[in-house]
Formats: sequence, C-alpha cells, structure tokens
Amino acid sequence: MSVTTKLRDILICFFGAIKKSKKSKYIFYHDIHSDVRFTDMSTPVDLFEKHIDIIRENNLEIVNTITKEEGQIAISFDDGWRGLLENIDIINKYQVPVTVFIISSYLGKQNYISENELKDLCVNPLVSIQSHTHTHPKLSSLSEVNLKLELSKSRKILQEICGTEISAICYPKGLFSEETIKRAEGVGYKTQYSSIPGAFYDEVFNNVKRRSLVQFASKKVFHSILKGGDNFLSFWYELKHIRK
Ligand SMILES: [Zn+2]
Repeated sequence: MSVTTKLRDILICFFGAIKKSKKSKYIFYHDIHSDVRFTDMSTPVDLFEKHIDIIRENNLEIVNTITKEEGQIAISFDDGWRGLLENIDIINKYQVPVTVFIISSYLGKQNYISENELKDLCVNPLVSIQSHTHTHPKLSSLSEVNLKLELSKSRKILQEICGTEISAICYPKGLFSEETIKRAEGVGYKTQYSSIPGAFYDEVFNNVKRRSLVQFASKKVFHSILKGGDNFLSFWYELKHIRK
C-alpha cells in the first residue's frame, strides 16, 4: 500500500468518525472474483460479502434506486467484467440489487461478458443495466459528433439487447464537462453518475450524482465511507474530473 493510500485511509477513518453521516450513498466496484480475477480492479468475493454485512449491520437498506435522503445504499459495477456474472450466486444469495454500467462495444471481448450473457443478466430482477458509453472514451475531450455517437449508440444497443429503457449513464474515467451533461440529457439520460464521492442527494450538478469507489476498502475504511468519511476527497476529484 502506498503512503498516499495509507494517508487517505487514515483521513477517511478520521472524518468518518467525526461526521457519522447517515446520508444515502451510491457506491461502486468494477468486478468481484473468487478464483479467477478478470481485472486488477476486482474485489475478492469475501471482501464484498464483508461490505454487505457492514451495510446491513449499520441498518442501511440496499436498494436499486435511492429514494430517501438517509439510510439507503445503492451498489454499481462499471464496465461489464466477467467476474460478476461468474459469481452471480453471491448477488442472488444476499439478494443485493446491483446496477451494471456496460461499455457496449466491449461485449464479447476477452474478460468481458458477451451479448448473450448480458441477456441472462438483464432478466435477473436484482440486476439493472445502464450505459457506460460505447467505447469508454474521455467524454470531455470528444467532438460534438463523437460525443453524441458515444452516448446514443450504447443506449440504443443496450435497449435492443435488454428490452428495457436505458435511462442512466456513468462517465468513463469519471471525466465530464457541462457539454457532456447537456448532450447526455439530450440523448435521453435522466440520471448521470460521476466518480466524485459524497452523498447521493448532494448533486455535483442537476441530475449528476456522486459515487464512492469502495472496491479495495478494508472493513474499517468501508465503514467510515458509509459514514461520509470520504466526502472530503470531493474537492480533489472535482478538480481532476470536471473539465471546463
Ligand atoms: Zn469504466
């Protein structure tokens, strides 16, 4: 563990102990794994299970859609890696609703789920599918034409495969601009997800939600993130992720 990560974790625990927030939060992972790991961003299944236990011990409700200012947690996975599919029994066993943000052009690529496997995921009542663009570009650096294409193509493809409305998008690498927000709204996305930590209802911009990355959080750090301990990182992420 690097010194920066260690210091960050110490501060998260410190601020979590002070804040003791109960505000609803959207948390995210990239994948889960038992034996085979498909990405180095993947979370071991036993750590994921510990996270679920901590959420429930804190009397927080795990929901697909957050509707209350306090007491709810929503869980998402980015990119569409294979591990979630191969360990879906964990999701079923714990009855945890999850949202998976899919990169539509990655379907069938090595280590990612295929189109047919996505069809299986779509019919699982615990799984909601949403868009993570078509090719995972830096949205804030694209031309208007390419931006529209990335936003609309993934939505169209995923709607055709799943037969459900794709109404949310999360930004690749967390990067976005005011132009991104406007275009995504124009294409039909009602909710947009950043990677800026904080409480769900403390929006970055109108309809742009915060999410907290928890994929490697130890039990102590995860507990502190649930209490709002990572909110102080927001300033840094806003500098890094929002392009003027
Ligand atoms: Zn991604």
